[in-house]
Amino acid sequence: MKVLKFGGTSVGSAQRFKEVEKIITPAGKNIVVLSAMSGTTNTLVEISRCLYNRDAKGALALIGEMKNKYISVVEELYSTKEYKDNALNFINETFAYLSSFTKINFREPQERIILSQGELISTFLFAGCLREHGTNVCLLPALSFMRLNRRGEPDADKIRTSLMHLLSDAPDADLYLTQGYICMNANEEVDNLKRGGSDYTACLIGAAVQAEEIEIWTDIDGLHNNDPRIVNNTTAVRHLHFDEAAELAYFGAKILHPTCILPAHEANVPVRLLNTMAPDAPGTLIDNQFDHGKIKAVAAKDNIVAIKIQSSRMLLAHGFLRKVFEIFESYQTSIDMVCTSEVGVTVTIDDTRYLNDIVHDLKRYGTVSVDLDMCIVCVVGDMHWSNRGFESQVMTALKDIPVRMVSYGGSNNNISCLIREEDKVQTLTALSKQLFDL
Ligand code: ADP
Ligand code: ASP
Ligand code: MG
Repeated sequence: MKVLKFGGTSVGSAQRFKEVEKIITPAGKNIVVLSAMSGTTNTLVEISRCLYNRDAKGALALIGEMKNKYISVVEELYSTKEYKDNALNFINETFAYLSSFTKINFREPQERIILSQGELISTFLFAGCLREHGTNVCLLPALSFMRLNRRGEPDADKIRTSLMHLLSDAPDADLYLTQGYICMNANEEVDNLKRGGSDYTACLIGAAVQAEEIEIWTDIDGLHNNDPRIVNNTTAVRHLHFDEAAELAYFGAKILHPTCILPAHEANVPVRLLNTMAPDAPGTLIDNQFDHGKIKAVAAKDNIVAIKIQSSRMLLAHGFLRKVFEIFESYQTSIDMVCTSEVGVTVTIDDTRYLNDIVHDLKRYGTVSVDLDMCIVCVVGDMHWSNRGFESQVMTALKDIPVRMVSYGGSNNNISCLIREEDKVQTLTALSKQLFDL
């Protein structure tokens, strides 16, 4: 059994649904995970913003516009009246439901219900399309098995148990279809796995069923050696170790959700990144094999804040770092990079919700300063310390760029530099030139 996930662009139109059907039909008893059609989740976010601002008129205008788009998709997707009518009824009901939120007190739980509609629509429409063409598809409701625990993390045991029940209830299905991104939380509310979360759904399912492979189908031929939105002439990396892919995803390679590789790695299920527009291209394979002596790719993560705590009390003192880290822990804020000297420590965070409180508490231990609008640039590959010259290649590329922090030696596969966000384009371009000769 394989898990195949198709992202927003891959199901962005009636025509694209038909292309996806061609990709999945030959294989048997696989689980297909769909995102919302491209643009839908963004519009649902906008609708929610209107509703928070009590702008019912704005919300209804966006709802109306989106409904019209879906009506044209339905017109094009089905050939029989029966399937068309069934889908139109569903669209009418869904959009009447969305409109009903203009009449209630709008809060976060309602926003999450709104955000879940995109995947519910795309899977309903695609299930109809497959059935119309004779495929016995079983639509597995993600809200019945995809669960978060009290810490807001996926509950792997509950996911596996519930999913196994649902699969064994439909043994005759040719294919299973489900929604990416959406889930229930520990308070029995509709929730989600954060933006881009359908990749995470696919990997959680792949791990739960111990799939043969997890395929992430998207609009590019695999993970590129640098951000193709910023640097020209990037090329696809054919193979990555789970650890390398996890670092790249976490540090900004948008092709993968930041934490989706973890469950696949734990279950040792290979992940393949493939292009819906070029289904025969080889894509990128991610597994537990490591290629020695190669620098693979560069990624960048924006909106980073660096916090420096300087204190002469740190000199020869033990327990100083623990006290500093405890403050971050008390605000459930995770640290990405750390650099220490005898008289100071600098850490970076990307979650700035509690920045003022953290800075306030840190002042107990020394002088605190904050650098905003920073960017972590992460170079991934064989960065074992015994290699000669790899880290110096990275530093050579950055010779004209002010570098705030460098982290090397924490793992065997990464070197990270902290720079100003305004220097990101120049930095990524220089790294591609130096490392990949572009
Ligand atoms: P989907 O909707 O299929 O989930 P995404 O938009 O989330 O697709 O991810 C694919 C996009 O990620 C690509 O179109 C590309 O612009 C962007 N991207 C950013 N960094 C990389 C990278 N290193 N390799 C490939 N794509 C990347
Ligand atoms: N539809 C969601 C989003 O746009 C999830 C996904 O596409 O992976 O973020
Ligand atoms: Mg995505």
